[in-house]
Amino acid sequence: PQIPPSILSALRSLSVDHGNGNEGGDSDDVRSHLSLVVLGHVDAGKSTLTGRLLLSLNHVTRRQYQKHQKSSAQIGKSSFALAWFADEDDTERERGVTIDVATKRVRTRRYDFTVLDAPGHSDFVPNMISGTACADCGLLVVAATTGEFEAGFADGGSDADGGGVGRSYGQTREHVVLSRGLGVTQFVVAVNKLDAADPPWCRDRFEYIRATVLSFLMDSGYRERNVTFVPVSGLTGVNVNREEEDGDQRGEGEGGGGWRELRKWYDGPTLVEALDSFSPAKREFEKPLRLILTDVSAEGKNASVRGRVEHGFVRTGDTVVVLPVGDEAIVARVERGKAANEGTSPYAFTTPASALIASPLHLAPGRSVDDIPELQNCALAGDIVEIELGAIDPARLSPGCVLCHTHPSLRPRVRGKFEARILVMERLAVPIIRGSQVLLHMHSIDVPAVVSRLISTERRGDANPRMNPRVLVGGATATVEITLSEKVVIEESIQCKALGRFVLRRGGDTIAVGLIDKVLD
Ligand code: GDP
Repeated sequence: PQIPPSILSALRSLSVDHGNGNEGGDSDDVRSHLSLVVLGHVDAGKSTLTGRLLLSLNHVTRRQYQKHQKSSAQIGKSSFALAWFADEDDTERERGVTIDVATKRVRTRRYDFTVLDAPGHSDFVPNMISGTACADCGLLVVAATTGEFEAGFADGGSDADGGGVGRSYGQTREHVVLSRGLGVTQFVVAVNKLDAADPPWCRDRFEYIRATVLSFLMDSGYRERNVTFVPVSGLTGVNVNREEEDGDQRGEGEGGGGWRELRKWYDGPTLVEALDSFSPAKREFEKPLRLILTDVSAEGKNASVRGRVEHGFVRTGDTVVVLPVGDEAIVARVERGKAANEGTSPYAFTTPASALIASPLHLAPGRSVDDIPELQNCALAGDIVEIELGAIDPARLSPGCVLCHTHPSLRPRVRGKFEARILVMERLAVPIIRGSQVLLHMHSIDVPAVVSRLISTERRGDANPRMNPRVLVGGATATVEITLSEKVVIEESIQCKALGRFVLRRGGDTIAVGLIDKVLD
């Protein structure tokens, strides 16, 4: 009952059918929205490629790029000029790594992407989890250079070799398993740095990496048709945007003839075309509101919060309840404003990651939200929004809180125990037993927890589950009961992906991903 009938019918008339592959958003001015998480090993070139996308799709100007090139040369890091568009704050620039999940907007022919550039360092896996939990699709960046692919994708020693940064087990694999666990079902894999492969633009190298990564993706539960591989160079821009090919073929531009080399054996999609071939995401705006907060700050008497609307619909004037705390608040303002990279100031790109971003409504071609007065001041499933909340003490709010409508039947449960199906990571130094202490990560929260029962387990290829197992070993799937140290907002994963999927970590290592099957009392 939370969507007034007039608004619901407006929404239905406007909205493309995202569930059935109806390819809405093909017109030039109305696009559908997707959140894209950029993943990969540290130094694979994620920030550079994100910066290249911003540059070649004209979200930043050549002049800004030249300015970045100049100032990065001054500190002796000229190759980071593009990455600067993606890495926003000074600490990240100095370290040359992405710490927080930065957000940017990138627009292709069919889509308006909110790009979540997740950190590659294993130190920062929790940040990566919160980015990935918001994502509809992923861009996995792997470096094709000799040794680098092997390091990022290493299958190397076991966890016992020591966790943390510098361990041999490649982040690429962990990211893939995490993404699958958190519900990212489609990927573009950018086989990057082919300009620096030996020899440059080597077809065999591309094919080798493709085959290796694809078999791993398929083992992790991805379908081949949901994964597209593209050979690219983020640094030189080759095979990013087809519009730049002609210039390069004429010997202009930064590609250094790379397009010509690539064309000898490749006629598949460019990176931009591959991103355009994603399927639209299903927006559950008719389900009860679930808005998960990622940022909270005080704004005078009111609280200013940012988050993603997972389900449902919210608008100015609504009364909402904040879970798990249970306080009510009034929505004073809903801002579906600009992305962080859409400001007018030349410095707009260096705003903090918490800068306002928002996604447009996803509408049928030719229709605009501005046509419908009822849809002003509202946000829908799939939108990342900033909201001002009144009549609540900002100190009661924190990232991970969930905003819902107040009627009891519309609220998710706040509980501390559930039954779940988990997939145990291949590499596990110490098996999971009853009583294993873990840290449970979900969207933007982490909570200490205990694996309180092992209900059943299956080994791969074995149809009969074993009941009441004593241990769970690497690679197993299992049904377990998990008890949390405090009550949090949880739902069965079939009800709500974001509130029903989680990652278990121990001692800084990911040990399992899982889906909540049953919320227990
Ligand atoms: P991230 O840690 O994955 O974000 O990686 P960065 O984007 O910071 O890049 C790491 C290093 O690889 C930097 O020195 C980049 O200049 C370099 N790099 C990134 N992309 C390419 C590429 O396509 N070709 C070459 N040769 N170097 C690249």
